[in-house]
Amino acid sequence: MKPVYFDYGATTPCDPEVVAAMLPYFSDRFGNPSSMHAFGKKAKEAVEEAREGIAAFLEAAPGEIVFTSGGTESNNMAVKGAAYARRGKGNHIITSQIEHHAVLEPCHFLEQEWFEVTILPVDGDGLINPDDVRRAITDKTILISIMHGNNEIGTIQPLAEIGRIARDRGVYFHTEAVQTLGHLPFSVDDLHVELLSASAHKLYGPKGIGLLYVRKGTRLTPFMHGGEQENRRRASTHNVPGIVGFAKAIELARGSLEKEVRDLTAFRDKLIGGFQKEMDQVKLNGHPTQRLPNNVNISIAHVEGEGMLLSLDMLGIACSTGSACSSASLAPSHVLMAIGLPHELAHGSLRFSMGRPTTADVDRLLETLPPVVAKLRAISPLYRKT
Ligand SMILES: *Cc1c(COP(=O)(O)O)cnc(C)c1O
Repeated sequence: MKPVYFDYGATTPCDPEVVAAMLPYFSDRFGNPSSMHAFGKKAKEAVEEAREGIAAFLEAAPGEIVFTSGGTESNNMAVKGAAYARRGKGNHIITSQIEHHAVLEPCHFLEQEWFEVTILPVDGDGLINPDDVRRAITDKTILISIMHGNNEIGTIQPLAEIGRIARDRGVYFHTEAVQTLGHLPFSVDDLHVELLSASAHKLYGPKGIGLLYVRKGTRLTPFMHGGEQENRRRASTHNVPGIVGFAKAIELARGSLEKEVRDLTAFRDKLIGGFQKEMDQVKLNGHPTQRLPNNVNISIAHVEGEGMLLSLDMLGIACSTGSACSSASLAPSHVLMAIGLPHELAHGSLRFSMGRPTTADVDRLLETLPPVVAKLRAISPLYRKT
């Protein structure tokens, strides 16, 4: 049977239309956008057209979009760039326990210098309380970085409210929208952000290309030094095929966004309901409704995430787990710990993230997982049916 992929939160395949749009920029139109001749001009036109399309989607100005090598670089650029640019004003950064490592690690790096970082807790559904943000701000606070949709548990944060608090206090607000750009409708003004990170390979674009939205007037210290590309904000020759592919992916998302949100939400809720009906001692992780339309994260008591993942893989179903063995540290996911999940449940967690082509395979997943769990529980000394 054809293997099915339920790991769109990790990466997505390139849409064939994206690949087709990119191809000429590897060969015929290979020029360097910084060159002054006709070859360069053609490439530059493509880059600027892509920038305009993406900016329009975010309701931003083209000059506010900086192309990077991906979500990780954009997050590093936002966090470190804002911290260094504003060090004359203060040294305090606020973030949360459930951020991606690509935000937490730059924060920890800055802590080794003279910056101080407050890491806010979340509630049992993974939500940040905007009042906690308000209380954490001091006159030394220069940056708040809170993600939009969580990649593990799917919870969507009340960004507009947090953004308003930040703006009232003159603090830069960064969000990483890697899991939401092209998956949920929003503009940069809706979210009240100065900085927003995104990555093409999470929305049917290619890997190795991302963007940072930088609101006009926002000061950032560049950390790639070299040529004068991107208005001196990010040196290095443009990844022209990647940029063209990113814009194509956004254009395709724009056309299908509403339908996709509707369809995926229905499949998500069918999966959640089905799992809870077919198995006992199953807990949904993350907020029940304020969550990514394509994300299902469950903990199944008395089974190991790795065991389920590998059994499902043998049966042709790919997903991911927040359990320990998938990480070098042997600690369960920091996000599952942050929502207060006991270790046993965190070790039995699975994430299913759906995408455009998977929706029809939901029934197969619903038929496949419960027998796998039953089999593993039969050999588990801890399991007692309730
Ligand atoms: C994938 C992902 C990243 C990393 O993006 P890259 O483009 O792979 O560097 C960062 N944050 C979140 C939430 C992600 O899902």
